[in-house]
Amino acid sequence: MFFVVSIELKTACDFHGHLCPDLVIGYRACKLAEKILGGERIKHDGLVIVAYNSTSAIDAIQTLTGCTVGNRALQIIDWGKHKYVFIFESSGEGIEISLRDQDFLSSEEYNALEEKMNCNPSTTEDVTLYKKMIDERVNRLLSATDDEIFSYRMVKLQSVRREVITGLVRCERCGDMVLRSHMTRASGKTICYECFHKETGMMENN
Ligand SMILES: [Zn+2]
Ligand SMILES: [Zn+2]
Repeated sequence: MFFVVSIELKTACDFHGHLCPDLVIGYRACKLAEKILGGERIKHDGLVIVAYNSTSAIDAIQTLTGCTVGNRALQIIDWGKHKYVFIFESSGEGIEISLRDQDFLSSEEYNALEEKMNCNPSTTEDVTLYKKMIDERVNRLLSATDDEIFSYRMVKLQSVRREVITGLVRCERCGDMVLRSHMTRASGKTICYECFHKETGMMENN
């Protein structure tokens, strides 16, 4: 079975380099958000997105919405989940979209093949089978209804201010120039997160 690939998905593919299941999930999440939130309002109010993974889906989100890590309209919290929050920058209102349990995305056969290919030199047979499985997943994700793939709920977040901080300061420990938003105090010194991590074994997040 073949599906017509939309211009938007084609653009995402060209940017990402291939058509894969995660890219399709990101694409479908964007289309669902657009349907529920309204394309016109999105254009007018602007979106801020939080994605809870760092898979190929991120490339679809960046190409479809124009919200990127670089322009700080896309924040990634990598919990390895296909969960996405799309909110209006002005009001904090929006939608949280989560991937539903999909049997075909957690098949033992696929996981075993992926493990095998990651650890060992692959045979042409493995590669052909893997490609076939990927194509099947892509087709199923493209043919399913929104409701079959995702659950969603409307949300309102407190503050979604997109701060742009570009000023640099020198870390008093390593001497690197660091964004002033990414400094912390430890042992009476203003130091960078890397030094903080090395010193305490803890992560400091902004
Ligand atoms: Zn991919
Ligand atoms: Zn440092």
